Parts: sequence; structure tokens; C-alpha cells
Amino acid sequence: MPKFDLYRTLEQDLEPPVISLEGVTKDYEDDLHAIKNLTLQIEKGEFVFIVGSSGSGKSTLIKLLLREISPTSGKIMVDGKNLARLRENNICRHRRKIGIVFQDFRLLPDRTVFENVAFAMRVIGAPKSAINCEVPRVLSTMGLSEKLDKLPSELSGGEQQRVALARALVNNPVILLADEPTGNLDPKNSWEIMRLLEEINHRGGTTVVVVTHNREIVDVMQKRVITLNKGILVSDKKGGYSNAKY
Ligand code: ADP
Ligand code: MG
Repeated sequence: MPKFDLYRTLEQDLEPPVISLEGVTKDYEDDLHAIKNLTLQIEKGEFVFIVGSSGSGKSTLIKLLLREISPTSGKIMVDGKNLARLRENNICRHRRKIGIVFQDFRLLPDRTVFENVAFAMRVIGAPKSAINCEVPRVLSTMGLSEKLDKLPSELSGGEQQRVALARALVNNPVILLADEPTGNLDPKNSWEIMRLLEEINHRGGTTVVVVTHNREIVDVMQKRVITLNKGILVSDKKGGYSNAKY
């Protein structure tokens, strides 16, 4: 274990952070800072919670990382690329590096489980042979091998979120972003999703960033917790929700 940690530290020293924000501000309207002068780094392979009350800028941060929106000022680097400098075709390549999961699953209601995940591969032009191989494989890691032909409406909430996770992972993203992934789930299914996120982080080395309101989960998992309050970073440390200062 110490040996592993040593190698990891050396590796991280050589590699730039996978996510870096420097003095990032986002104003939707004049003088209303959704994010204010935010500076933070996330290293490759980290598992990070983003917490803070409603309206504190969590979803804005996710949208900035996806480059759905651009900052009013400041610099955002993702996987070595300055997001402000991306041209149209590079924006697509950038988004492919990021898997995303939302509170409301966002599955296609009239497509099967298989088709929902296959869709993510089709849009990047993957060949049929790769789709037929990868989709069942990733769904099986989510415990959904028996559900390939079901429609989302035939699944429980927990199962739907696992399909969304499979879809987010099928193209092997560098980063997995989850915006309140357990917001619509009961405690048992919430824990199942968290267990899967931890496994994805451990086994695949994927950097995982989870926005959540779930105090219990954050307290038990003891990860790095970044707390935002009214767009300002007020705490960034390892531990539980209750450690975070407001
Ligand atoms: P959170 O996800 O933490 O609840 P958001 O990032 O959604 O917070 O919102 C941060 C702030 O920015 C809030 O004051 C919200 O009202 C505002 N905001 C979010 N999206 C928009 C938008 N598209 N236009 C105007 N204001 C917005
Ligand atoms: Mg939000």
C-alpha cells in the first residue's frame, strides 16, 4: 500500500491535473456571480464530492467543464486542453472525454436498454461490431445483463440510473461527472450507485466528480469534499460533509 501510494504520488507530480480552474467567474446576469473567482485542481484518478446548498453554483461548474457554457473570466483546463481555445470539432472530442450522469437519468423512453447505451457509441461513429461487443459488456458490469431488451419504463429507478452510468462509461471517458446522481433514488439504490462509482474510480482509474446533497453518503465515504457557497469555494478537504465549513 505505501509503495503504491509512492508511485501514485510520483506519477501525479509528472502529470498535470486532469481538471484545473484558475480564477473562474461565471455571471449569467451582470453582477450575479453563479461562480466567483474559483481556483481548484483535480488530479487524474481522484474521487471528489462537490457539495453546497441549492443555487451555490454546482451545476454551473459541471456545465463549464462540459463547455456547454463559457466562463465570464478565468481559465479552465481539462485533460491538458484550454477550453477557451477549443474549435468546433475539438469541442466534440472534448465532450467524448467526459461521461455524464444526471439526477433524472435522461434515457430515451422509446428505446431499449441496449439501444440507449448503443446510441452513445453510434454518435461517435463506432462500428457495429464494437457496439455489439461493448454494450453488453458494460451493461453486465452494471448488473444489467438480463435487461438488454427492456424499455426504461420497465425498470426501477436504480436500474435506470445504472443504464445511464453504462451509457456514460461505454466510450471510456477520462472523467465521469455526476450531477446529483442519487437525487431520485431510495437509500439502498443510492448506495448501489455510489458503490459502482467507487469501483469505476478504483478499477478503471477514471476521475469521478459527484455533485450531491446526500450528507450521509459524503460522511461515510470520506473522500475529498469541495464546498461551494453562493459560487465561492468555502472548503476543500478530505472527510465528511459535516467537516465542511460554511
Ligand atoms: P446549484 O446546481 O448549486 O443548485 P446552479 O449552478 O444551478 O446551482 O445555479 C447557481 C446560480 O446561478 C443560481 O443563483 C441560479 O439561479 C443561477 N443560474 C443558473 N443557471 C442560470 C441561467 N441559465 N440563467 C440565469 N441564472 C442562472
Ligand atoms: Mg444543480
